[in-house]
Amino acid sequence: MVDSNIAGTPADKRGHTDPSLTSRAIAVIGAGWAGCAAAIELARAGYKVTLLEAGRTLGGRARRVETDRAQLDNGQHILLGAYSESLRLMKLAGVDLDRALLTLPLQMRYPANTHGMDFVAPSLPLPAPLHLLAALLKAKGLTREDKLSLGRFSTAARWMGWRLNTDCSVSELLQRFDQTERLIRLMWRPLCLAALNTPPERASAQVFLNVLRDSLGARRRRASDMLLPRVDLSKLFPEAACAYLEARGGAVRSGAKVQAIRCIEGRLWQLDISGAAVGGTWSTYFSGVVIATGASQAAALLHDIPGHDTAQLCCQLTAFAPEAITTVYLQYDAATRLDLPFYALQDNPFNHHYGQFVFDRGQLDAAQAGLLAVIISASGPAAAQPQELLAEAVAVQLAVDFQRPELGRPAWFKVITEKRATYACSPGLARPANATGLPGLVLAGDYTAGDYPATLESAVRSGVAAATLLRRGAVQ
Ligand SMILES: Cc1cc2nc3c(=O)[nH]c(=O)nc-3n(C[C@H](O)[C@H](O)[C@H](O)COP(=O)(O)OP(=O)(O)OC[C@H]3O[C@@H](n4cnc5c(N)ncnc54)[C@H](O)[C@@H]3O)c2cc1C
Repeated sequence: MVDSNIAGTPADKRGHTDPSLTSRAIAVIGAGWAGCAAAIELARAGYKVTLLEAGRTLGGRARRVETDRAQLDNGQHILLGAYSESLRLMKLAGVDLDRALLTLPLQMRYPANTHGMDFVAPSLPLPAPLHLLAALLKAKGLTREDKLSLGRFSTAARWMGWRLNTDCSVSELLQRFDQTERLIRLMWRPLCLAALNTPPERASAQVFLNVLRDSLGARRRRASDMLLPRVDLSKLFPEAACAYLEARGGAVRSGAKVQAIRCIEGRLWQLDISGAAVGGTWSTYFSGVVIATGASQAAALLHDIPGHDTAQLCCQLTAFAPEAITTVYLQYDAATRLDLPFYALQDNPFNHHYGQFVFDRGQLDAAQAGLLAVIISASGPAAAQPQELLAEAVAVQLAVDFQRPELGRPAWFKVITEKRATYACSPGLARPANATGLPGLVLAGDYTAGDYPATLESAVRSGVAAATLLRRGAVQ
């Protein structure tokens, strides 16, 4: 049986293939944001790309989820104006960015009466660091000492070129820069959790500085904007990327899991694929392969390649420690609305206040009126709670923080925990390059070497880098 929807070349009965048929056929394994980015770039360069995804829904760790109650996302995602490659490729794939994303100035705003702070970057096109200065002058809930301490941090970091000689934890960095307890609690800790999904005491100061350099410290004010998806995460990029790919002769197969990879005669890659999408198990040949799965799944595929020593790379790939994110969706009456699209919340697990941010989904998508999404990053301890208790605790936290008793009584809730949402972004973490050392076989994913922590942008940049490597000669 020949599957004409798979662009690679099936072998004949003796396992032989016609090399001319495969010379520009590339398989991308995994339709997360990294795989979609690689696929788009390769299709644009004229390659015949087959995108193979084990799951039924495209998007990997940023995807739509069908639940018994409603269609949701696997977790609320925030993009930044600094996500230049994600925005470029979304545009290339035909996504209308103004409609798909709500743009807000960088902000950290807590519900009134919770002794939080209110910090919003001005919408005026002031260059950095003036926009930060203007935001500081306007900020409420910070003492003069807090503001001076933030100003000091920003000046010193800029002076250092946002670089550290030796990486350390974010907590150490904040201590070194003499940051006040209040600023750490209300600003740096929530920012660190949101950006790195790792608590400051375990998070890499250098990666944190990289994110701050491109947002808070960016010369282009729009780089610091926060972009909130108005459409579901699969629609936001992966499905548009796949439509782009198919329009250029490529093929997309969801429900197709790659079981094994083999190198044939040092020039072709044979993939064993299983799943309903390919009608059982199938072998297909490609001249190039992008492994765009998570790190541990990449290790499993690499480990089993006969005749190649990938032990060192596999060790690096399995060394990433997973970090969870939990999203608690609470549905209220459709008329229920917060004053802002999202707020920061003060978490205190000892008090059963687990929520760190709350998003009013109704302000992003009218079809989700009355739906609030509460985010808990690095959620290990919270996720260990029974779901009913966690949802109840979060609803009570909202009722208390917003002084609105009705928020304590949602009509229904849904708790989604992604246990392997990201890897712990610890100081000095060694991340592998895109190249594997094997010809025509490259890696893509949020975990490969780069400036950013595990984010959509790091995944997309990695996908673009993998495609560039293949184009520049990894494929004969
Ligand atoms: C709840 C949550 C909240 C987040 N919040 C943010 C945020 O606010 N901002 C931000 O920028 N980032 C955020 N992230 C991180 C971001 O989602 C990830 O960094 C990014 O999606 C990783 O993309 P990826 O393509 O590298 O990997 P993945 O998305 O993991 O994609 C890998 C794909 O490969 C597939 N696959 C695996 N093995 C095989 C196989 N053998 N054959 C075929 N397919 C296979 C998988 O099914 C998957 O679809 C969040 C993540 C989560 C989970």
